[in-house]
Parts: sequence; structure tokens; C-alpha cells
Amino acid sequence: MRMDPPLDKAGEGLSAPHAAAARWLPAANFMLAEGIDSCPIPIFVLDRNHVIAHWNRALAALSGLPPERQVGTCHQWEAFYPSARPTLADLVLDGALEDRISQFYHEKSRPSPLTPGAFEAEDFFPAIGDGGRWLFFTAAPLHDEAGEVVGAIETLQDVTEQKRAEQALRDSEARYRLLSITDGLTGLYNARHFFARLETECERASRYRQPLSMLLLDADNFKQLNDTYGHLEGDCVLQALAKVITDSTRSADTNFRYGGEEFALLLPGTGLDEAEQLAHRLCAAFASTAVVLSSGIVIRCTISIGVSQFRPGEKPAAFMHRADQGIYEAKDRGRNCVVAIDADTPR
Ligand code: GH3
Ligand code: MG
Ligand code: MG
Repeated sequence: MRMDPPLDKAGEGLSAPHAAAARWLPAANFMLAEGIDSCPIPIFVLDRNHVIAHWNRALAALSGLPPERQVGTCHQWEAFYPSARPTLADLVLDGALEDRISQFYHEKSRPSPLTPGAFEAEDFFPAIGDGGRWLFFTAAPLHDEAGEVVGAIETLQDVTEQKRAEQALRDSEARYRLLSITDGLTGLYNARHFFARLETECERASRYRQPLSMLLLDADNFKQLNDTYGHLEGDCVLQALAKVITDSTRSADTNFRYGGEEFALLLPGTGLDEAEQLAHRLCAAFASTAVVLSSGIVIRCTISIGVSQFRPGEKPAAFMHRADQGIYEAKDRGRNCVVAIDADTPR
């Protein structure tokens, strides 16, 4: 449908060029108003008194507030906030500088890289739509021929879908990262993560001079168990052992399956004696655990544990070696027992 601009009689009595300009101006204003109204990007325009001069159809659809209700009022905030406060366009119109704008929008706002005096921001608006919307919005001052600010224009774009996609990507990256450091059978951290954490925990313990201990656990006679009941039943036993470990440790401790039937615990803030006590509790807890195999047979298994405490400055391998030595000694002593190796006690 063609819409004729409302040409007025503004040119009457003027010289020809001025008359043409004067006739053209209302037509241009009309085109501009029509352009704003038809633009699919939500837009509103304020005059120098913060009164809404334009509130386009796209903004009416986004906010649910029609132009008939908004134009001529100062109720621009109603579309976005539960109580009266300046919008970005109001702040820009007042010539607010970055500091004042960031009081309202914090780190979510920045000067526009494209237009001098304009700002842009991104924020979540809980009251818009069903469950809230993320909006990217810009506000720019409008000047007259003398360069004086006579209004401000604000554009808004619903970027909720983009935000959701970004969040989904972050979630899936986090899931993959977790999977890459998790042992699939037991849900504990895997060997790769054990060696990475060992490095960082040793560094931290050296820097802050805080105790750090390690438990290395090895299931006893596991080959025989597999040979008797089958590998799958052996897996059930490893899962039961992982559960005993998880149930017996604190949130500061980290538990790993770093080998086939070998597990490790890193205990920051824990000295050798306390670590040894935990090892005894684990040994007793697992030995008394009735493991129900998928065949229905109930069995009991045992573990041997080596314990060591980190010496500030030593290599992680040396720290681990002592716990490993502890396992060997525990096996020598007949299994189902704990051996703590004190770095200061010559052996
Ligand atoms: P020891 O008491 O001296 O530790 O004897 P062991 O039989 O446990 O030790 P050995 O090193 O001889 O055998 C380890 C066994 O653990 C052999 C291997 O098949 C089994 N194993 C390793 N990884 C897995 C696994 O993922 N699942 C099952 N079911 N068994 C595993
Ligand atoms: Mg082993
Ligand atoms: Mg073993």
C-alpha cells in the first residue's frame, strides 16, 4: 500500500529553493517516522524532555506496550523495569558519562565503537516475555543543526536465543571436559587428572607450607577374583570400592582411579597421622562391605594401602613413590592392611 506524505503549505511565500526545502522537510520527517515504525528492530525515541516521540511496532510487540499508550509520556522504563528509573536513552540524553552509565548497567555497558556519544549494553530483563529476555540495546544522542542534543534514540534487540546457544555450548564444553577427566566405570577422576592434580596440589602445598598427604589403594588378589567370577563381576567390585572411598572422604579430598584396580586419594590439609587413620577406616570399611555380584553371590574383598605425606620442595614422583612403597610393604605383610611411609624415617 502506498502512503502519501502529508505535504503541508510550509513553502508558501518563500523563494523557490527554500520553498522546495520546506516542502521536502515534512515529507522527510514522515518518511523517517514511517521508517522507525516499520523497522523490525525495536526502537524508541525521546525528545529533549525525555518524552517518548516514537515507540515503534517492533517495540510494542516486544514489550506488550502499544505506542498509543507510550507516546507523549515519560513511561519508557515501564517496558523494562518494575519501578521508575532512567533507561539508557535517558542517560545518554542527559549527557551521562561512562561512570554514571555503569552505575546503572555495571560492566554490562560500554561506549559504542561505531558512534560517538552512543552507548551499548546487554542485560537480562526478567519481566519481558515468558521467563525474561536477554536484550542487546544501544542509545545515541540526537543533535540539531547547532550540535545541541535534542533527543535520544534507543534500539533493542532480543538476543535470548543467542545467549541460550552460548550457554548450551559452555555447558557442553564443561560436560566434555568433565568426561575427559572422569573414569567411566567408577565416576571417580581418572589417571590423567590424577597426575595433573598431583602437580598442582604439590605446588600449592609447597607455596603455602600446608600439609598434603596421599593414599594409594590396590585391590588384593584381584586377578584371582576375575578368574573366579569373571571380569564383569570384577568391575562391580571396583564400583563398590569407589563408593566406599567416596562415602568415607571429605569434599576437600579428591579421589581417583589411576590404574586397573588401583585408586589414589589426595588429601590437602591432612598430615601423615590423620591420613593413616583414614586409610585404616577405608580398609576396615571395604573389608566389611558385602558386595553383591550380578549373579547374586555375595563376596567380601580387601585392599592394601600405602600412605605418604608431601615434603615441601620434593618432586611429586618422590611423594608418590613412598605411597607406592607402602603398598608393596602392605602386600608383603599379608594384604588388607595399611603402611604409612614417613619421609624422615630411614628404611
Ligand atoms: P595383588 O593383591 O598383589 O595386588 O594381586 P592382584 O591380583 O590384585 O594384582 P595383579 O597385578 O596380579 O592383577 C591385577 C588384576 O586386576 C589383573 C587385571 O585383570 C585386573 N584388572 C585391572 N583392571 C581391571 C578392570 O578394569 N576390571 C576388572 N574386572 N579387572 C581389572
Ligand atoms: Mg595393582
Ligand atoms: Mg591388586
